[in-house]
Amino acid sequence: MDRFDPDLVFFEPQALEYPLGKQLYAHFEKVGTPIKMTTSHNRVTGIPGDTDAKKYRNAKRTLVVGLRKTMEFDTSKPSAEYAIPLATGCAGHCHYCYLQTTLSSKPYVRVYVNLDEILERAASYIEERNPEVTRFEAACTGDPVSFEHLTGALKRYIEYMGEQPNGRLRFVTKFNNIDSLLDAKHNGHTRIRFSINTAYVIRNFEPATSGFEERIEAAGKVAEAGYPLGFIIAPIIIYEGWQDDYKELIIRLHERIGHLVIPELEFELIQHRFTKVAKNTIEKRYPKSKLDMNEENRQMKWGRYGRFKYVYKKDDAAEMQKMLRELIGHYFPSAEVAYFV
Ligand code: SF4
Repeated sequence: MDRFDPDLVFFEPQALEYPLGKQLYAHFEKVGTPIKMTTSHNRVTGIPGDTDAKKYRNAKRTLVVGLRKTMEFDTSKPSAEYAIPLATGCAGHCHYCYLQTTLSSKPYVRVYVNLDEILERAASYIEERNPEVTRFEAACTGDPVSFEHLTGALKRYIEYMGEQPNGRLRFVTKFNNIDSLLDAKHNGHTRIRFSINTAYVIRNFEPATSGFEERIEAAGKVAEAGYPLGFIIAPIIIYEGWQDDYKELIIRLHERIGHLVIPELEFELIQHRFTKVAKNTIEKRYPKSKLDMNEENRQMKWGRYGRFKYVYKKDDAAEMQKMLRELIGHYFPSAEVAYFV
């Protein structure tokens, strides 16, 4: 899936007092998407489905249009100072997605229409830290790109930060719905990162996101538009033929963007990990998943959030890291590998 067009939309009444709320309402009326009202996103009811699995799938195809009420931004260390609200949730179905556990009971996508108020708050955070630069991450609570054609919110944020001498934006995506961002006046103040993986991993574990070639092509367009660019290769997974596939990934990237001058090109490398809670949820939600979560192939690591997680055994992780660092060093000698975890 390249972009998300919902099957059902809920509106909070207050959203209709904002231009973006009105615009979205008119759009969905025009294209014939069923519209319902809800007093609050917490009270969304009536998502169809006679089993939990069907309800979950339908909820992922549902959009809730509302207001961001809390104007305190969460922190987003170490890669940014703050998480800037833009939306919550994602229509993708990545088996290992962190939203499986954090948004389990509310998997629908929520977008906010009070963007001016959010940007005003961002301005006050920038002001507080002057003359230091303040970085905002827009993808902490979901992927912000698949519905950009509906809201235009990212473009607003990008152009706003482009005008802020000390404001920076960053986000990560698995979607290629970025054409409307290519002419944004970003002024080099927004770093777009693509979450990429082998064709096998994307095909088997990342349903309802953009494909392997689509993401690489989108990254090429973003680089040509002069954005600071980065890649998150995650989760790195061991399966039969994985070494060849990761090599193919780096070579394909090189074919598409190797000839471009990309300032501060950066790679982040994250091996697959899971917790017991996540494993249970994934097995329930995607019972046919081929994702290997056999604890015997893993070692335990104490996680930041007070839970043990299972990562690859030391030798496997070392091989993974060495191989990818060498490939990146060979094909992208001026790029930096920010970390491997
Ligand atoms: S694209 Fe990102 S946020 Fe969306 S389901 Fe996949 S991992 Fe989760």
